[in-house]
Amino acid sequence: MAKIIGIDLGTTNCAVAIVQSGEPSIIENAEGARTTPSVVAMSKTGERLVGLLAKRQGVTNPKNTVYQIKRFIGHNFDEEAVQKDKAAVPFEMRKSANGGIEVQMGDKWYRPEEISAMILQKLKQDAEAKLGETITEAVITVPAYFNDTQRQATRDAGKIAGLDVKRIINEPTAAALAYGFNKKKNEKVVVFDFGGGTFDISVLEVASAEDGENSIEVRSTDGDAHLGGKDLDQNIMHWIADEFKKESGIDVRNDPLGRQRLDEAAEKAKIELSSSLETEINIPFITSDASGPRNLLLKLTRAKLEDIAREYIDRAMQISKRAMEASPFKVGDINEVILVGGQTRMPAIQKAVEEFFGKKPHMGVNPDEVVAIGA
Ligand code: AMP
Repeated sequence: MAKIIGIDLGTTNCAVAIVQSGEPSIIENAEGARTTPSVVAMSKTGERLVGLLAKRQGVTNPKNTVYQIKRFIGHNFDEEAVQKDKAAVPFEMRKSANGGIEVQMGDKWYRPEEISAMILQKLKQDAEAKLGETITEAVITVPAYFNDTQRQATRDAGKIAGLDVKRIINEPTAAALAYGFNKKKNEKVVVFDFGGGTFDISVLEVASAEDGENSIEVRSTDGDAHLGGKDLDQNIMHWIADEFKKESGIDVRNDPLGRQRLDEAAEKAKIELSSSLETEINIPFITSDASGPRNLLLKLTRAKLEDIAREYIDRAMQISKRAMEASPFKVGDINEVILVGGQTRMPAIQKAVEEFFGKKPHMGVNPDEVVAIGA
């Protein structure tokens, strides 16, 4: 039987899984990584890059590096949310003949489906190389709030990439499937998904159907499309830059390369502080002044990071409260809470979730892989 791959086509990162010997597992990409950045670029030499290579050259080639295309797929150009998101990205966008969206890379214009297809194509090719066979079928996940147009556009992206999309399934449903919660009856499951760029929360109910097959229903879903790990990184970046400015008088944010190194250092420090209580931020030769090259060396504690992140964690918990209120259940009715998205590795987020729901959330399946595993 031909193999079908499960794809988590994320806003910031993607993952691919396959069932082998009855067990789902993640397929590594050509770079040996288990997730692939959702970034496509036309390099300065005219080469098309997808994934990590595209992400890496983004700062020095911002106009031709397209990221977060998932925000635009299945939307019309004139929508308010689109106009807002457009203002925040460095690549060019325009209205297509039918009122849709086109983005520019090099001297060509592409529909969001075509950009997503380039990502899917890489995922497909890398999976084929790993498995040593041709893959033509896939299951792709989408957010629970995606409408029919967004779902159809995702299907179309699959088709352009040469994939017959057997199913489009909801991301929270996939996460619940990965934990096998479809096998239990009358479970009420919350999926708390804090990723790189977006926050989503869904309340699911596992219902037993007459034919004996359990179904998973989304009973409420809420979120913030502009709340994610990247926002935390930005606040950390500003903290680092401000601290450095206090001692040196120099604002390294103004220099694009300095800015990139700050961004990378901010995310690295954040990730380290998920497993340690204190970390050192060390950027050699960040800038230079009359006295010669300057190094940036700072300590950041987990407590300080939690201060910096507090407003975002509080926002996520406010939205969680709203999602519960919109569902037919009370917090006490919830049987299971699943954490999805790399940012949920942050202990302060796990603690906030545990306090709100009154139970320890599940993290047994890697939070950036759980959706693809479910798919
Ligand atoms: P995702 O969109 O699910 O791939 O999540 C990516 C986000 O998770 C990024 O903002 C990462 O910085 C963040 N992240 C990944 N690992 C960790 C970690 N160990 N601690 C805190 N944040 C993390």
